[in-house]
Amino acid sequence: MLRIVKDNAKSIHSPSKEVEMPLSAEDKSLLDEMLKYLYDSQDPAFREKNPKIREGIGLAAPQVGVNKRMLVITYPNYDEKKTKTEYQLVNPKIVSNSIKKCYLEGGEGCLSVDQPHPGRVYRDFKITVKAYNALIGSNVVIKAQGYDAVVLQHEIDHLDGILFYDHINTKNPEMEIPGAIAV
Ligand SMILES: [Zn+2]
Repeated sequence: MLRIVKDNAKSIHSPSKEVEMPLSAEDKSLLDEMLKYLYDSQDPAFREKNPKIREGIGLAAPQVGVNKRMLVITYPNYDEKKTKTEYQLVNPKIVSNSIKKCYLEGGEGCLSVDQPHPGRVYRDFKITVKAYNALIGSNVVIKAQGYDAVVLQHEIDHLDGILFYDHINTKNPEMEIPGAIAV
């Protein structure tokens, strides 16, 4: 089982390196293990047997001790067709973003952060991401907004050594930005 690197480690605050393409079998198998970790973490029976495991929807390689620009995301969309948002992204790049900001009403959480850090984490409401998606084996252009955009920005931040609380205004954690919306 993968071990989660917590925020007391220097490596979690350090930028990660580009992944060499084509993707090696080793990197692909790490992405598979990371996705498996999230599946397990979302399984209540698994968590009951492993009480230290917290539920997660996204994981970046530096969080499992590998400072390479790779991340996985998986969560249900709660739609009628029971689809899910799921990626294994390699070398993701945000190529455009909206001026409009948004934030998660209840704040953000992170598998690498055990202490609470209340406050507004403002994100771009809409982003476009270019990456290689190892789940389908091709380059993708992802247009995301709202919650989907927040999750992508949180995970891509990890590749630059940035944690969600780095975005919280230290003097005024609940600072309001005009026009920003809760998602
Ligand atoms: Zn995180």
